[in-house]
Amino acid sequence: MSENFDLIAVSPHPDDAEIGCGGTLALLSEMGYRIAIVDLTNGEPTPFNDDPQVRLNEASKAAKILGIERVTLDLPNRKLLDSIEARMILAKELRRMRPKIVIGMQGMTPRASPDHYQSQLIFDAAVFYSRLSKWEDIFDGLEPWRIENVFYYYTARELLTQSQPLQFTVDISTHFETKKSALLAYKSQFRAHPSYNPPIIDWIEGMGRYFGSLTGCKYAEIFYGSNIMTMNLFKHILD
Ligand SMILES: [Zn+2]
Repeated sequence: MSENFDLIAVSPHPDDAEIGCGGTLALLSEMGYRIAIVDLTNGEPTPFNDDPQVRLNEASKAAKILGIERVTLDLPNRKLLDSIEARMILAKELRRMRPKIVIGMQGMTPRASPDHYQSQLIFDAAVFYSRLSKWEDIFDGLEPWRIENVFYYYTARELLTQSQPLQFTVDISTHFETKKSALLAYKSQFRAHPSYNPPIIDWIEGMGRYFGSLTGCKYAEIFYGSNIMTMNLFKHILD
């Protein structure tokens, strides 16, 4: 059973994709595109949440707020490692969901979870495995799916040691409040213990305003990729 998605954002944990590109996902969803987040793990355990189901419910609520679909895979939180098995699991989802565009989380996050960087390694390999021929037998008969449009979102926790010449922003001014609401759906992560957690809204505001200032709008999200960029790239690819 194959499906056809316009865009999939791959997230190591439920909330990373919302932080990096939640506004863009909400914007594209409102334009009528079929969008999903694929979480590699359920993100649990975390310090202040005792029930993984609570986080899953929050993730589902956040997806609803953004107007998108969501798939949560069963790879292990905190112990996520790039492996053949993990690559295959994500590649199988890509073959099943057949997205035109994929966006992953890029880079190392030394002060946050090591899962983040592993997720990029898994993501890059899975995009490649998705298109390989003569592997239908190990993908339950799912045909190869080639994805030409591969991008990365940024959450302001990544090291920026490498130059990022190919980048563009998406104006999310009209959808910033939606993004904020989606993140506040994660009460177990961002609301339960404000003294411990970084103040999420300050962080999201600052990041959005900074990227917005680079292109003269109020709030923006930044993306990296390997194609020549235009401001309307996503729409251009999908139309
Ligand atoms: Zn994370």
